Amino acid sequence: MRRPRVGISACLLGRRVRYDGGHRAAPDLLAALPADFQLIPLCPETEAGLGTPRPPVRLVRTSRGIRALGVNDPGLDVTAPLEAHALARVETLRDLHGCILKRNSPSCGIRGVPVYPESGGEPSRRGTGLFAALLRERLPGLVLADEADLADPERLRVFVGRVRTRLEDERKGP
Ligand code: SF4
Repeated sequence: MRRPRVGISACLLGRRVRYDGGHRAAPDLLAALPADFQLIPLCPETEAGLGTPRPPVRLVRTSRGIRALGVNDPGLDVTAPLEAHALARVETLRDLHGCILKRNSPSCGIRGVPVYPESGGEPSRRGTGLFAALLRERLPGLVLADEADLADPERLRVFVGRVRTRLEDERKGP
């Protein structure tokens, strides 16, 4: 019997893939997920070859669109490698039923990610991480959530139900 396949930001699994060499392990979330969920780790930044540790980046609205630029060195622009990797990686994830991504990340955040003006100043919180945006665009039926959403038991219940429904729909076929 095929199990639900759910992508997950690797830092939430406790893997030390963050820019500072740390992680964001979410043991409560992992304990709350159904045992039959097959978790597929992903980290768009390390997979794109940016390394760990690496300079932190943030989303910046520029005349060339939204870019991922260095926090400490605005001359550092990693948008191209992140987008190139994301385009290829998303194609390997078409068999997922859901995905749990890290909130606020310039790569993984599914909504409300800070986007800074190029001239400096306060960010808006209307952005989507570069990887998450591509995932949503290319796999529109994929059930997405972040770890903060799923700390709410009702949201977790809805997420689990939608993932199972997607698996059932897949079993029935077109
Ligand atoms: S938020 Fe995403 S890109 Fe950043 S460390 Fe976690 S998995 Fe990697």
